[in-house]
Amino acid sequence: SESQNRTYKIAVIAGDGIGKEVVPEGLKVLRRAQEKFGFTLEIEEFDFASAEYWQGHGQMLPDDWFELLKPFDAIYFGAVGWPSVVPDHVSLWGSLLQFRRSFDQYVNLRPVKLMPGVKSPLADRKPGEVDFWVVRENTEGEYSEVGGKMFEGTDREVVIQETVMSRTGVDRILKFAFDLAQTREKKHLTSATKSNGIAITMPYWDQRVEEMAQNYPEIDVDKFHIDILTANFVLHPDWFDVVVASNLFGDILSDLGPACTGTIGIVPSANINPERNFPSLFEPVHGSAPDIAGRGIANPIGQIWCGSMMLDHLGERDAAAAVLAAIESTLAAGEYLTGDLGGTATTAELGTAIAEALSR
Ligand code: ATP
Ligand code: MG
Repeated sequence: SESQNRTYKIAVIAGDGIGKEVVPEGLKVLRRAQEKFGFTLEIEEFDFASAEYWQGHGQMLPDDWFELLKPFDAIYFGAVGWPSVVPDHVSLWGSLLQFRRSFDQYVNLRPVKLMPGVKSPLADRKPGEVDFWVVRENTEGEYSEVGGKMFEGTDREVVIQETVMSRTGVDRILKFAFDLAQTREKKHLTSATKSNGIAITMPYWDQRVEEMAQNYPEIDVDKFHIDILTANFVLHPDWFDVVVASNLFGDILSDLGPACTGTIGIVPSANINPERNFPSLFEPVHGSAPDIAGRGIANPIGQIWCGSMMLDHLGERDAAAAVLAAIESTLAAGEYLTGDLGGTATTAELGTAIAEALSR
């Protein structure tokens, strides 16, 4: 609306490795979007959540990280992880997973979208045919800490780990997915379960889907078992629009989906707190890629597309769509592509090409 305050506070954390190379390209494009669409980004950069910070401080984050970051509208994140200095579980638990938990980012969202000029392992598919979202529950489900071991070290050894589904936890992720489907042309929602094999929690999820569907009569709902659903991601990716799943199934689908659309370097992801009580976090699917870091050859598109998702979350829908269109037209033109896309352009050249496409 016209009275809306269009100033957004963005915390920028580049992190490690190629994070430090792709984040500046993302900011280049966001600044161009800001000029073109007339909103204001108040950007503050932080050096924590990196191996260098860990070397200097013995921890990944400052003690007051929660108070520092809470006032921001979003966190624009590069990549964390530099295993030669900090073990991956330390860097991950000490940073991203703290944010996810404390900022109640209970939605993990990733696009599965075939882009022009990107070689995909899916045969005979054209851009436009494959364009859907994977919505993963990010806080409960199979990734619980409930369980234990019995008769440890004997041949009667038994280990148990429980799946935890709460009504609040299931309903809030379903609501997000239905709301997202509502904004889409196809208005189609697919729920992933395994109710024939996992006989208590999965039928409960199905039941909550049916209940929620009553509030969304215009949405076409279907349910798939996870096994056949993974097959259909490959065989019939054009069937899908919004796919919602529990933590474990969502984890699998949100890697499989983007893998079907080509290089890991172009895919973004978001960890969202839809109520906006806390900042949401936007990071590319790829990691810090130590093998190619420092050479200026990383593909910045995953990071730039994150900027589009962030603008969408902030309510800047036109700017979000324009950034995505600039990525698509640059890929289609094929003049400035990085090595992973078969070209010879540097990270900065591809970033600049997308910024220029946005200005046109
Ligand atoms: P993780 O954070 O999952 O441990 P990682 O940091 O070890 O991942 P990834 O970033 O996931 O590694 O990347 C795997 C490989 O894919 C890298 O070794 C790199 O060669 C390639 N890759 C990843 N991101 C990009 C990118 N943006 N541009 C080009 N190649 C990339
Ligand atoms: Mg890594």
